[in-house]
This record gives sequence, structure tokens and C-alpha cells, in this order.
Amino acid sequence: MTFKLNLMKKLIYPLLAAVVLTAISACGGGEIVPVDLSIVPNPVSVLGCGKSVNIQENPAVKTRINKKMGAEEYYLDTHKGRIEITAGSEAGVFWARQTLAQMVAQCGDVLPGVRIHDYPKFPYRGAHLDCCRHFFSVDEVKQFIDILALHKINVFHWHLTEDQGWRAEIKQYPKLTEVGSVRKETLVGHYGSNTYDGTPYGGFYTQDEMRDVVTYAAERFITVVPEIEMPGHASAALASYPELGCRGKDYPYEVQTTWGVFPEVFCAGNPETVTFLEGVLDEICDIFPSEYIHIGGDEAPREEWEKCPKCQALMKEKGFTREAELQSYLITTVEQYLAGKGRKIIGWDEILEGGVSQNATVMSWRGAKGGIEAAKLGNDVIMTPNSYFYFDYYQTKGREENGEPLAIGGCLPLRKCYEFDPYDQLDDDEKAHIKGIQANLWTEYIATFDHVQHMVLPRMAALAEVAWNPEGRTDYDAFVGRIEKGLLPIYCERGYHYADYAFKGIE
Ligand SMILES: [Zn+2]
Repeated sequence: MTFKLNLMKKLIYPLLAAVVLTAISACGGGEIVPVDLSIVPNPVSVLGCGKSVNIQENPAVKTRINKKMGAEEYYLDTHKGRIEITAGSEAGVFWARQTLAQMVAQCGDVLPGVRIHDYPKFPYRGAHLDCCRHFFSVDEVKQFIDILALHKINVFHWHLTEDQGWRAEIKQYPKLTEVGSVRKETLVGHYGSNTYDGTPYGGFYTQDEMRDVVTYAAERFITVVPEIEMPGHASAALASYPELGCRGKDYPYEVQTTWGVFPEVFCAGNPETVTFLEGVLDEICDIFPSEYIHIGGDEAPREEWEKCPKCQALMKEKGFTREAELQSYLITTVEQYLAGKGRKIIGWDEILEGGVSQNATVMSWRGAKGGIEAAKLGNDVIMTPNSYFYFDYYQTKGREENGEPLAIGGCLPLRKCYEFDPYDQLDDDEKAHIKGIQANLWTEYIATFDHVQHMVLPRMAALAEVAWNPEGRTDYDAFVGRIEKGLLPIYCERGYHYADYAFKGIE
């Protein structure tokens, strides 16, 4: 019997993924198990209940595809004394298996007989990992993808280039990794400490490794969206190819050793910059089949453009009156280049400044304001406000006395993440432009993968809850109860270093 149980777990657990925590109270072994519908959240609906199922006697899960259903929609049936999944596609089957894993975690060998109907509200449900400020191995990136899968998150936004390190092998531009992937040292402690560790730090992913990650994610119905930053956050690229900066080839650009926003940006007036970016994106598109390519666009100071003869000459030629139009010109040029390859751009909300094509999707990070503005302009939006979904922020108000590790700042308790309303201030037409939500994990102060887990768990469950059910979330305590019953056992089994503040009621 133990063998069969292990077989069942092997069947379910590796197929990690899922949140819509199935909150089923009764887990007894009777023939008919009553289900308390009041504790089952939308959009999960329990359509009926009946005979319970002993999973030791049911190692196989019967699956069926019904193409009339939404691609990610599923029914999970256990009420006929066996386990059946019906879904619109294999992705829906996969999400149903995650719900099943949560039922097993909660109920053990005997599952209550229920029929669950579920589907996500957003087609884009993302989580971002910054692998530049600190580098995470391919194995750790795969573990991060496992965490996404468990929570039914279907996009991994992979932040690959930054001031502090360029992490993606580009064969046409080998210095990006030979030079740009290593910084000579790293800031110790908080921003402004002015103390450095004196130790070189680096790492990068080969193209084969990135392809391996894409395949691993695809097996879990997760799309990898790569991010190549432009025109700012470019110090590592400029340290590798200084001729692409406004200060020119003789300027000693360096891979940055501290955090923040730096004046060094790509020279918009140098045609070689466009050649370079297109060459990089050619290789990125070969590795990543995603429809979306993230081109950054955030935090790009313009003072160098104001002083640069090449940038000023281009402004004159184009009739631009503001440097913001140079950013818009660069982003639009890249957007059109990628459109020729059948791809679409996503950029941080600064891409709205100076004007942006309606084909661009805007990732709203400075609160929800950029997203609201973009939706009103008719652009598609991914809501990723720092005020709700920046998982690098602290998790409790009493952060020091609670023993939280050093973080960038802010305060985002689980409850606040749970309360995010992605539709706030939007009318129905504008709501249609909200294609999804995402959490971001910037890693200036996160050097180990254990620490990554601490920052994203259990807040990832709140992200999933909003992504699958943006309306009608009214019972925070029930939500925490469902994490405790349906996810915590899985976190423990896998040895995840989750933050336990939420379960202890610490704020
Ligand atoms: Zn310039």
C-alpha cells in the first residue's frame, strides 16, 4: 500500500503547479462526504459531492480533453469513487493536477467526493526573478519555476541584463559575458553603506542552458519571457562595448558594484546601438519562443543624451523637441523589428513617456497609475504595482524585531498582496486591456536561493489568488487557512524556506 501511495505522490508532486486552494473541510473516509460550500472560494465551484475516493486504490488519474472548454479550464471529479480530470487542454489538466496535489496534501489517502470547476481570470499570470543583481544557477531557476507551477502561475519573466551583470550568452557579442557578466566587488549592507566586499562576483547562462530552462518551463505549461534592458540599466553592456555609450569608446565604463539608477545609457543617436540591440534580440528570439519579449525601458536618465552630439543630431534630424522622444524612437524601432519576427514587446511603464505604439504591452510597476493610463490609451497592461507585488519588500511592520532579513524597504504583508484590485478605477472597456498580473523579485539584497524562497512564499499564493479570482476576495482568514491546509504541507515536504509570519499572525 505504501508503494502505491508513493506512486501516487510521484505522479502528482512532480507536476507542480497550482493555487486556487481547494478548501474542502471534511476529509473522512465515509461513503458520502459532506462539503461545506461556504468555505470554497470563487472561482472554484464545487458542483456536487458523493462517494469518497481512496487514492491508494486509484493510482491512475483518468484525463480527458474537451476542446469546447477554455484552454486552462478544468473539472476535477472525485465523487464517483475515482479521480477524473476534464480540461480544455493539457495545460488545464496540469493545473487540475496541482489542485489534486493540494487535496492530497490536505486530506491524505482518502479524498472527499467532490466535483471542482475552475479556470483562471487572467491569461497572463507572471512572476519575475532578477538573476543579475545576484546570480542563480540553472538548478535554482528550475526550482523557482517549480514554485510557479505549484501556484498555477504560467509566465516566468527572466531578468537577464542589468548594470551589475549581463547574464545571457550572445554569440555575436562575446564580451557581454566575458566582461559584462562579472563585477569586481559588491556593496555590503544597505544602500549608502559605502562598504564593499572586495570579491569579484559573476555568472551567466549559456544558450544551451537557457534553452534547457525554456523546455523545463514548457513541460510545466509556463512561458519564459526574457528581458533585455534598454536604453538604461546598461552599464554591463557598455563596460563590454563602450562605443555604444554617449561617452564613447575611450570612457572606462564598469559593471556596477552598487545598486540604483545610473546615468550611463545606450547612445540613442549612434546607429550602431540599434545594430547591436537587433543582433542581441536575434539570438534571444532564437532561444525564447515566447510571443512577448521584454525590452525594459525603465529608469533611463536622459542627461547624457542632452550633452551627446550624436543624440542631439538625431533629435534635430527627426524634429524632436524633448529627449523623451529619443527613448520613444528607440523603443519603437525595436518594437517594429520584433514585430517583423512575429513578436510583441512588453516594457516597464516609462515606455509611455514620449509616446508608444498601441502594439506595446505596458508593465505597470510604479503603483497602478501607469497601467491605468495605458489602459485608457488602449494599450494592453500587465499590472505589477510595487505597492502590492514587489516581493523584495519587507513582509511585516515590525520587521527588525520580527527578525526579517535585510530588504530593500517597503512593507508588503501577505494581507496587502491579497487585497490588490487590478480593476480599480477602470471602466469595462479599460478592464479588457488588463491581460494579467505579476509579482517581481529584485535581488539586490537577496544573495541565496533560500532567501528567494523566503521572499516569495507564501506571498506567491496571494498572487495566484488574485490571478485566478480578481473579484470577490473577501475572506483573508479563510485564505490563510487554505494556504495552511493545502500548500504548507507541500512547502514542508519540498523543504522550502517559506516566511512563517503569516501563519503566526505577525504583522
Ligand atoms: Zn548619445
